[in-house]
Amino acid sequence: FYNENTYIKMKASGKEDEFDKKYEEALESVKGYFGKEYPNIIINDVNEEKKIKDISPIDESELAEFQLASKESIERAIDILSSGYKKWFQVPYDARVNIIEKALRMLQERKFEFAALLTYENGKNRYEAMGDVDEAIDFMKYYSMSMIENHGFIKFTGKAYENEESMSFMKPYGLFAVISPFNFFSIGVGMTTGPLITGNAVLLKPSSDIPLSLYLFVRLLIEAGVNKDAIAFVSGTGSLIGDIITENKKVSGVVFTGSRDVGLRIFKNATKYGPKPVITEMGGKDAVIISDKADLKKAVEGCVRSSFGFAGQKCSASSLIYVHEKIYDEFIEKFVERTKSIKVGDPREKSTFMNPVVNKDAYEKYKKMCETYFKEGKILTGARIMDRKGYYVEPTVITDLKPDSYIVRNEIFLPAVAIIKVKSIDDAINDINSMDYGLTGGIFTEDPEEYQHYFESVDVGVVYANRAAGASTGAMVGSQPFVGWKLSGSTGKGTGSFYYLTQFLREQSITIAH
Ligand code: GLU
Repeated sequence: FYNENTYIKMKASGKEDEFDKKYEEALESVKGYFGKEYPNIIINDVNEEKKIKDISPIDESELAEFQLASKESIERAIDILSSGYKKWFQVPYDARVNIIEKALRMLQERKFEFAALLTYENGKNRYEAMGDVDEAIDFMKYYSMSMIENHGFIKFTGKAYENEESMSFMKPYGLFAVISPFNFFSIGVGMTTGPLITGNAVLLKPSSDIPLSLYLFVRLLIEAGVNKDAIAFVSGTGSLIGDIITENKKVSGVVFTGSRDVGLRIFKNATKYGPKPVITEMGGKDAVIISDKADLKKAVEGCVRSSFGFAGQKCSASSLIYVHEKIYDEFIEKFVERTKSIKVGDPREKSTFMNPVVNKDAYEKYKKMCETYFKEGKILTGARIMDRKGYYVEPTVITDLKPDSYIVRNEIFLPAVAIIKVKSIDDAINDINSMDYGLTGGIFTEDPEEYQHYFESVDVGVVYANRAAGASTGAMVGSQPFVGWKLSGSTGKGTGSFYYLTQFLREQSITIAH
């Protein structure tokens, strides 16, 4: 399986300038999408009475206007899709794959445009933005390959008796509601492609922070040939329309990535009338361990990237670093020095590493934490907002926190990391295993026995050793399935994994007797 990896491939073939040029041209050309109003898509275009605004974190400007879906519109969409899936499922599985592959080629052709849009919508710098679009393409490629390799999940199961023939036929459930987050376009794309390619219909509700990129993606799916009564795009704020979607009896399953509180609410809503598949990824309190046998250069670089890449707004971001007491002072000194060298700024500029946080709520939350939870420890750097328009804040490093401090125990989804001194690797592992979450984690040690021990004993879904490129972040579709354990995930199956698609299918056991 070949990952898209646009920037790495272009750089390796001496085309870094071309990468920059195309991205910078796209920053200009996508402005053509701004200043307009976009409809919901429920077979046809639907405008609503109430609107929501798509605001850029770069300068708080209004990019576009979207619809706040009404209850009637949502119910109409659910009615259409919950029967519309049958026609879509009748499209043979290889023809469905052809349609998704056509859509992914269209996305490949427009990848710079989508990357530039993400910069405006959620503030990603060029490398993170292109990585996100690449990952979206990878999900589409991987799930297409998975359908073909598994022969559409149809299997002849032999003869129980001489006069009988049997098969196992994996069939769609019907309609999946997809509730997608702001931090990755690719997550919305992957969560839509999974149910769709397996023959389900999809009602997509994007995060109100990135409606435009997902709206254009749905347009692209329809253009590639997805049946119009198998996909709907419905925008609105989760707190206002989330319950209406997830409580509906005709929705046969929900796929969600986002916070724990919302995830748990969705569980309750979705199972109100009985069991149904609820596939969730609900964040993490991800930790990295630095052993006294670590290569500190790698460790510092990996942790800075993972704690502050995309301003700490990844479920995989490390917000806790456990450091062995023998190298604690040295690590702190180097880590703080490197953190202070981070360039925070406008993500359109090539040299920017850390972008603004996604919206006003996140900005206000950071401000509040500066006055409360951050102060519970010793602030080594950061804990300040920046004096400019847009949602810019400083990367923050805190030590000397009590083990039960709020930011040690809870996901905060901001550029702030707590550093904890430990006497041994096992002390750190025990602490990590006592958390509610279990999403990603990393260790830095040059001793293979030590990382093997870590892999064997830590209750976390995605683990890395010595990843200087991102410590606990940056899972690649296909080779690194992304899966949460414990409260981080509901099914124990990862995205970009060979088990992913089976979650959208129910088995029918078919026998013919002659
Ligand atoms: N897959 C991303 C990574 O490995 C994180 C996704 C998320 O934030 O949910 O960094």
